[in-house]
Amino acid sequence: MREYSIAAIPADGIGPEVIAAGTTVLAALERRDGGLKFNIENFDWGSDYYKKHGVMMPADGLSRLKKFDAIYFGAVGAPDVPDHITLWGLRLPICQGFDQYANVRPTKILPGITSPLRQCGPGDLDWVIVRENSEGEYSGHGGRAHRGLPEEVGTEVAIFTRVGVTRIMRYAFRLARSRPRKFLTVVTKSNAQRHGMVMWDEIAAEVAEEFPDVTWDKMLVDAMTVRMTLNPRSLDTIVATNLHADILSDLAGALAGSLGVAPTGNIDPERRFPSMFEPIHGSAFDITGKGIANPVATFWTAAQMLDHLGEAEASARLMRAVERVTGSGILTPDVGGTATTKDVTDAVIDAIHSSNA
Ligand code: NAD
Ligand code: MN
Repeated sequence: MREYSIAAIPADGIGPEVIAAGTTVLAALERRDGGLKFNIENFDWGSDYYKKHGVMMPADGLSRLKKFDAIYFGAVGAPDVPDHITLWGLRLPICQGFDQYANVRPTKILPGITSPLRQCGPGDLDWVIVRENSEGEYSGHGGRAHRGLPEEVGTEVAIFTRVGVTRIMRYAFRLARSRPRKFLTVVTKSNAQRHGMVMWDEIAAEVAEEFPDVTWDKMLVDAMTVRMTLNPRSLDTIVATNLHADILSDLAGALAGSLGVAPTGNIDPERRFPSMFEPIHGSAFDITGKGIANPVATFWTAAQMLDHLGEAEASARLMRAVERVTGSGILTPDVGGTATTKDVTDAVIDAIHSSNA
């Protein structure tokens, strides 16, 4: 038996709805495979926990998660808790505490899903965005002086280190090398930001020497939004800073049809700690409890998790099932359908059991 321990943290809003769907799909993969077992433990951390205990997770949260093979995460965010508390109280401490420095965000247009880009269908857009996930603009440094006074100043300090930039650059070049086109685009803003961003450009050029078989180019982040929209076929693997890639990957999700289909893995490439897999969307309180949250992103990130665990076959089987279901038009409202979360989940489970492979 190949057994994996998984910590599920559904957290807020639609998080519990999509993680429940993902958990039943993992159970279907177990039954289909016969030799695969997921021991899933649920953690009730998040905004409700915060309202009871004053913290998003207990003080020993990270040490309790450490023994798991992977973390399956829903979303954080509640209408009545400030966003910086939910984010810095749960998701970011896990990413930073476990040094999940590579945030990997695959994007493609799934069968049956319409891209807002004219003339773009399945196959036309196939990207992986690598987001630096441990430093940069989200390192948490900065401050406020003269609070509330006319001369108040707030600073938000982006920190880039040679170690941090080199390791994400190597990760991105390695990933680009593993894909058919062997092509990487390095995104910065080194015209206006002349310190850390120029260092990114220099380190990119240095690391590129280690990967002579990978073709690469550079883009400024503002121009990158134009290229993604007007010339999507010209891109493949993309690496950018924490902030820039955060923004670009929401755009990528929208161009692929919906945030509801966009997955992400927060990876510790050195495998010292568990990596964390989640949909990129938030808690979507506008649709919470309606039963219409799109579970596809949460299924796709489960496929990423399976790949990370070395279960490539189960991962491919899950993605084939998802693509079969989207292709047959069983879609939630965010992608133009009328199906519920449960309809899509049941259909994916059927497809897992009925596939020959
Ligand atoms: P959001 O991603 O929650 O929602 C944006 C829009 O997309 C909403 O209209 C929502 O209904 C829709 N949407 C998102 N996921 C969907 C799905 N699976 N199926 C169907 N529709 C979906 O972003 P927001 O509204 O800006 O933020 C809501 C809360 O989530 C905030 O508190 C924010 O801080 C938080 N947030 C958390 C994360 C995270 O946990 N990683 C990411 C982004 C936002
Ligand atoms: Mn984001």
